[in-house]
Amino acid sequence: MNILVINCGSSSLKYQLINSESEEVLAKGLCERIGIDGSAITHQPKDGEKQTEQVAMANHTDAVKYVIAKLTDENVGVVKTLEEIDAVGHRIVHGGERFASSVVINEEVIKAIEECNDLAPLHNPANLIGINSCKEIMPKVPMVAVFDTAFHQTMPKKAYLYGLPYEYYENYKVRRYGFHGTSHDFVSKRAAEILGKNRDDLKIIVCHLGNGASITAVNKGQSVDTSMGLTPLEGLIMGTRSGDMDPAIISFLCEKEGKTAAEMIDICNKKSGVYGLSGGLSSDFRDLGQAAEDGNELAKATLETYSYRVAKYIGSYVAAMNGVDVIAFTAGVGENNFSVREAVLSYFGYLGIQVDKEKNSIRGEEVIISKPDSKVTAMVVPTNEELAIARETVRLVK
Ligand code: AMP
Repeated sequence: MNILVINCGSSSLKYQLINSESEEVLAKGLCERIGIDGSAITHQPKDGEKQTEQVAMANHTDAVKYVIAKLTDENVGVVKTLEEIDAVGHRIVHGGERFASSVVINEEVIKAIEECNDLAPLHNPANLIGINSCKEIMPKVPMVAVFDTAFHQTMPKKAYLYGLPYEYYENYKVRRYGFHGTSHDFVSKRAAEILGKNRDDLKIIVCHLGNGASITAVNKGQSVDTSMGLTPLEGLIMGTRSGDMDPAIISFLCEKEGKTAAEMIDICNKKSGVYGLSGGLSSDFRDLGQAAEDGNELAKATLETYSYRVAKYIGSYVAAMNGVDVIAFTAGVGENNFSVREAVLSYFGYLGIQVDKEKNSIRGEEVIISKPDSKVTAMVVPTNEELAIARETVRLVK
């Protein structure tokens, strides 16, 4: 089957066409600045060049039309007609408490996703636009919704409740949901496979360290705790997001800076994290690493603060699971940045973890980076959220 995987943002649409038998990416691309001046589509067929074309896209339905046109194009296309696209898998950010697994999309599911809009006002409406645009253009093609939150629905109450008046949970469903679930599920499964073990017998901590970052404790195949919360702002220090902080800081800074709470939250989302901490130097770890090497003290402090936060979370999840067998690193930073991995793991001598420096210098590959006699296995497992979405889609439409 050929599965079109769609990840829709408010002004963007990322896509991949994946053959489910070979699990090969036939083509991938990105529509940017949808509904804004200067919109463009970048398309790359397998074994082909990446090409960007400026095209007017007034809305997401236009974007889906261009995606289909590229996929079926005589020169850069990879299928002959729309009929060769067997199903569409949509990445949906928030499924609230309603969705604990992926589902085939129908009218009732669309309504239920709409009801979660309140919890992810920036993401879910955009995801729904993607669903509706595909429905309009490919009404007969089955579609599946794969939720970022679903994998974490196994968390026990003690992990998802906040220390707030209980009525806020009852009235507004204010609780920890967690995100990156597709990645945490994929990576923990793959880690067990690589080790030749059953995931149900393992305690795994997955560190998804990308521009957005989160950590999950996976006990016997189930998410039992995760660092992101009601929104993706909680937890680790990220590219531009602050992660955990004293909530009283918001009102304190609002007063000092004459800003509204919404403006401060925007700063916490877009101007904070390693970007803010490094004095606006960069949110990219390559730049920060280089600056630290060149002697920039603030860049060094930023990277130390970042790794310390990751280590604290790992420590707390060791406590939550009463042990750990595997620590897996994934996503842009986790897969590529050996100094962050080394700095994080240096906190776990007490767990008997010893880093194999040579193995740890390998980039972007599946590799065990702890020494063979380490009590806990540390490893790198590249994530592949699109493939995970394609697999879920096939499972549900077959
Ligand atoms: P992601 O959100 O998973 O795409 O991760 C993006 C982040 O990964 C970037 O901001 C970079 O900081 C980091 N990254 C990507 N490639 C490298 C690399 N080769 N070395 C160090 N960091 C990298």
